[in-house]
Amino acid sequence: MNSTDTDTVSDYQVQVAVPVPVRQTFDYLCDQCLVPGIRVLVPFGQRKLVGMVISNQKKPQGRELKQVEAVLDSHPSIDPALLNLVRWASGYYHHPIGEVLNAALPSLLRRSRRLENPLLEDQYRVHPGLNGSGAQAVLRRAPQQQAVFALISKSEWISLSGIKSQSGSSGNRDFNRLLSGLLDKHLIEKRTGVPGLDRGPRNAPDLRLTEGQQEIVNRISRCLGTFSSHLLHGVTGSGKTEVYIQLAKNCIERGGQALVLIPEIALTPQLAQRFTDHLGNGVCLFHSGMTALHRYRTWWKARRGVATVILGTRSAIFTPLKHPGIIIVDEEHDRSFKQNDGFRYHARDLAIKRASLEKVPVLLGSATPSLESIKNAESGVHRIYKLQTRIGPAQLPRIELLDLKRLPRFEGLSPPLLEAVSEVLENRQQAILFINRRGFAPVAQCHHCAWQARCDRCDAFLTYHRKSNTFRCHHCGKITGARSQCPNCSKDISHVGVGTQRIENILRRQFPRANICRFDRDEISTQRKLEKTLEEITRGRIDIIVGTQLISKGHDFPGIALVGIVDPDRGLYSTDFRAPEYLFQQLTQVAGRAGRSSSPGRVIIQTSHPENPYLQMILNQDIDQFYTHCTRERRQTGLPPYGFLALWRAESKNEFAGQRFLQYVRRLGMHLLSGSDPGRVRIMDPVSSPMEKLAGQYRAQLLVRSEDRKSLHRLLARWVRQVETAPRSRRVRWSIDLDPVDLF
Ligand code: ADP
Ligand code: ZN
Ligand code: ZN
Repeated sequence: MNSTDTDTVSDYQVQVAVPVPVRQTFDYLCDQCLVPGIRVLVPFGQRKLVGMVISNQKKPQGRELKQVEAVLDSHPSIDPALLNLVRWASGYYHHPIGEVLNAALPSLLRRSRRLENPLLEDQYRVHPGLNGSGAQAVLRRAPQQQAVFALISKSEWISLSGIKSQSGSSGNRDFNRLLSGLLDKHLIEKRTGVPGLDRGPRNAPDLRLTEGQQEIVNRISRCLGTFSSHLLHGVTGSGKTEVYIQLAKNCIERGGQALVLIPEIALTPQLAQRFTDHLGNGVCLFHSGMTALHRYRTWWKARRGVATVILGTRSAIFTPLKHPGIIIVDEEHDRSFKQNDGFRYHARDLAIKRASLEKVPVLLGSATPSLESIKNAESGVHRIYKLQTRIGPAQLPRIELLDLKRLPRFEGLSPPLLEAVSEVLENRQQAILFINRRGFAPVAQCHHCAWQARCDRCDAFLTYHRKSNTFRCHHCGKITGARSQCPNCSKDISHVGVGTQRIENILRRQFPRANICRFDRDEISTQRKLEKTLEEITRGRIDIIVGTQLISKGHDFPGIALVGIVDPDRGLYSTDFRAPEYLFQQLTQVAGRAGRSSSPGRVIIQTSHPENPYLQMILNQDIDQFYTHCTRERRQTGLPPYGFLALWRAESKNEFAGQRFLQYVRRLGMHLLSGSDPGRVRIMDPVSSPMEKLAGQYRAQLLVRSEDRKSLHRLLARWVRQVETAPRSRRVRWSIDLDPVDLF
């Protein structure tokens, strides 16, 4: 027992969620009434954990309970609506509420620190008692201090960050040292305060919306103030972003805040800039590339209602909003909205739930909506709007298929594609060659003895990276030195297949005078590099871009005349039932980079399977036929969105432990099903995952399918609880994934 003084009168009992992998809350005593959303420090076993009060009651029943050790918040960290969302998510995803809360709180608040204003900054001004010429004399021999002093004397109160940003490129000086020098000389004085947030000049004039855009903005604006859900299906370049901006503006004018989720902000700095240009400094970012303090600041501003727009990635769905106004999810089909480990939520689905809890409209937008959203639109859950043409003179690109069975190839590129590239170069336009594979070649093998370079920790080939002369595993990240001779028979190794480096290589040989850049995660390794490269592309300094899916996301490049898709065939024959949908989305998105200015673009797809129905639909840009086709298939097979899935996963260093565990899980489930009406749930057999070994762990999975959501959840609620409390569950790592996106 803890040495807490048990003699004090504890009038209250609270239920606390703590970040442990157990699906329950824990009871503690405390002597004040703590409302839900307050963080507390509680003893838990040998440890002390930061937890959150979920509910409370007067007159404790359990006299033997431990005491809350410290109360960390005077006001709830999480408001009731958000706490409801957390509760709902914990129930829906069958995930421990303490862990859900941990995902919802900024990382700084997961520690036992008190909620304090992260915006407080030290600010400086010239000492009021100073006479004009005095400083000059004192600082004659300290030019650096003099420069800082000059800066400070220009404004009323200025913060360190203000001084840094105004001193421009010479920002690497040790300002703290210079400032304390000036303070010592009594030339300046210091206070701690919150810098006034100037709403900022808007740099961009409002565009005149097209009739189509205006109509959509009007109709959704009328829904502000109540819950409703909307789907905007607009081709690439049709002006969806402009619709979001106008809607955010209307929402702000009515005193509301807009929460805008996008797949990857870091990749699209232009987009963030567009929002700030139109909506001013109230636009705050929230994403994983920011420091914890920065995220905390955005969180704080959002909660105080100072941030008017929160532009963020997946986890921003949990940003508190003082005046919730609208939630927008851009590129709603994007897979990055699904969290694939720990608390496995889908931010788009949570956005819809949150909008309903906060009573605000939610807008999903995409050029290639997910089948889930299309179905919801058809069944009347979402109102649907379409933008079918590009803005202004821009035309959708022409698409052509090249039959690789009839063409020779030079390291993956066929003569007609090379020809098209050279034409683009002659016209001083730009081309993108898209290949969704990094490195030089995906397989290194010996033709004599059939040896292949494989990762010893994963069921995967090693990819040869020429620039660093290494073999790399793209699954576990392992890097080893490359070899050029076979370890068995010492013959030369050959490289099969192509990756970005190989394509870059052949292009450099074919077009020695062109400016070529590779746009993949190896090359674009820092934010600076990304921004610099994007700028060079936009300014037309780059002629050919060889890129992975990094290049396909939302960039608005004016000069792209050609998009060449080097090898889409991998996506055609995958075991994943969603593969055609992904292929369609991906190709449509990359193709959408072409022809964004007045000259129409051209898209060339190389393939060995030109007869494939999905490629034919892409060729004809027949999106309706694509949806009809996929919908029919999913309906017949009972797959999402016409059926519901849950996936148990287990992994272990032991080759058989995962499967054995899932056999046990299955038995428990079958038992629960037999006791009641089995409903329309089917529990499949455990199997090894498509990639069984990953980073040294053997992985197995167990799929559960249901025709309706209710039966599935009713079963899972009891099932997960039983599994969780079984002692053998501690011997493997296991998880349950609701509405799984990644089945590997
Ligand atoms: P999407 O988000 O659908 O890809 P954008 O909103 O990025 O489309 O618009 C594509 C391009 O057209 C952008 O350069 C944008 O500035 C421009 N644009 C959008 N709406 C208008 C409009 N009403 N008038 C003029 N230009 C517009
Ligand atoms: Zn060999
Ligand atoms: Zn590996």
